[in-house]
Amino acid sequence: MKDCIFCKIVRNEIPSYTVYEDDIVKAFLDISQGTPGHTLVIPKKHIANIFDYDEELASAVFARIPKIARAVKASNPDIKGMNILNNNGQVAYQSVFHSHFHLVPRYTSNDDFKMIFKDNSNKYSPEQLKAIQESIEQHMGD
Ligand code: AMP
Ligand code: ZN
Repeated sequence: MKDCIFCKIVRNEIPSYTVYEDDIVKAFLDISQGTPGHTLVIPKKHIANIFDYDEELASAVFARIPKIARAVKASNPDIKGMNILNNNGQVAYQSVFHSHFHLVPRYTSNDDFKMIFKDNSNKYSPEQLKAIQESIEQHMGD
């Protein structure tokens, strides 16, 4: 992809603070540094989002994430945990449309990363949950 910013990083046409790369992935510092050490892991192949992976590429990319996560964690004794997240689609806060996984080191529960899951469990009947479950189940393999 000629104009994709992450493809340009893969081709070293624009600089990055790369911490790891091999034939499948490149991992580099996210320029925003949401928390210190915030790192992105991307497939070298241009894939827009999670919906476009085949099993082989997904396996290869995911297989590399734990060792990169361990290295990020080991880089700073103040890192106590890590959020790993992947945004898919504009509505889900994706802004670069070359798939990437955020490794966000966590230092305290009050650092610069926040995630909010509302608990809506009291709004669902068992029947509604069953209908959602069946609808998703029916589309496995699509
Ligand atoms: P997302 O919002 O999930 O699509 O995340 C895109 C991320 O890419 C943001 O956190 C940006 O800070 C980061 N980003 C954009 N351009 C660059 C760049 N040239 N080098 C490193 N990170 C970048
Ligand atoms: Zn790309």
